[in-house]
Amino acid sequence: MLVLIVVLVNGTSKKGKTFPFFQFYYVSVESIKVQSNIAPFANVAILQKSLKSKASSIGVGVHSGVRAMLTICPAPQDTGVVFIRTDAPAAQSHIKAIATNVTDTQLGTTITNAHGVSVSTVEHVLAALYGMGIDNAYIEIDGPEVPILDGSSSPFIDMIRAVGVRTLAAPRRTIEILEVIEVRAGQKFARLEPYNGFELDVEIHFASKAIGHQHGVYDCSKDGFATELSEARTFGFMHQVEMLRKNGLSRGGSLDNAIVVDGDEVMNQDGLRFSDEFVRHKALDAVGDLSLCGAPLLGRYVGHQPGHALNVALVRQLLANPQSWRINSVALDTQILAAAGV
Ligand SMILES: [Zn+2]
Repeated sequence: MLVLIVVLVNGTSKKGKTFPFFQFYYVSVESIKVQSNIAPFANVAILQKSLKSKASSIGVGVHSGVRAMLTICPAPQDTGVVFIRTDAPAAQSHIKAIATNVTDTQLGTTITNAHGVSVSTVEHVLAALYGMGIDNAYIEIDGPEVPILDGSSSPFIDMIRAVGVRTLAAPRRTIEILEVIEVRAGQKFARLEPYNGFELDVEIHFASKAIGHQHGVYDCSKDGFATELSEARTFGFMHQVEMLRKNGLSRGGSLDNAIVVDGDEVMNQDGLRFSDEFVRHKALDAVGDLSLCGAPLLGRYVGHQPGHALNVALVRQLLANPQSWRINSVALDTQILAAAGV
């Protein structure tokens, strides 16, 4: 059954003035759909979420080759996503997954806290959390690098689904893009633009015929991330892998956790999971990097030959331009909370 609820909300204009307006919601027990033509919400969750219990997995880091156990844990409202290095002294172990903590984007995204404690290759687990609508989680890890597992976000999605998602009694704060933000590096660019939902438009070009030109548009407002992107694996080129190994990197990389391209050929015996798996993985990486905004986005991402450096620069550019976005959240009442079962 659907119940119509009208909520009075304070909005902020581009000039910084606050103004009250009404939002209209149809509320069901399973989901809450915003049905307003006044506020630019799509069908987005308005309550924060976490997990019902802990979920663990063990594996090697693709670059370090170091084996680690990773446990995604429930966290209270307004925590965000915080890594905890359980092998570091407790007072120095927390590393918040936000753009200001990013210290390296060369081979993956690395975040580091004020004590110099870091965790690398965070993007695939962060993408899974973002894609599943998880606002709050502690990620315990007893090593320096997130396990690569199968090279995609799919194992992390499975972990979250296995324990279940819990809705919290707190309003979700969404970053609504109000004007275009763009960063460029030569021919490459990444952009955020206003959009009533969350969509990614990604394009890549590679000389190898195994990849060539690929372009995809993915609606990740609802289950799109899990179905369209989460299974797409990371990829690398044979000549790069050999060079990385000489430099002590890619120690954990193998055909079990990455697509390996040699010249114009895919080396993996089982081939690809999607004919355009490469561009889908670039979109997956973008979701993980965009999650470093610290809140879900209401906007459209456009990436042309994107990478971690460009994505993180885009998030930093966004956060440095507060006139380009605003935080949306709703005032909750007992009816909304009761309808959501919290
Ligand atoms: Zn990746």
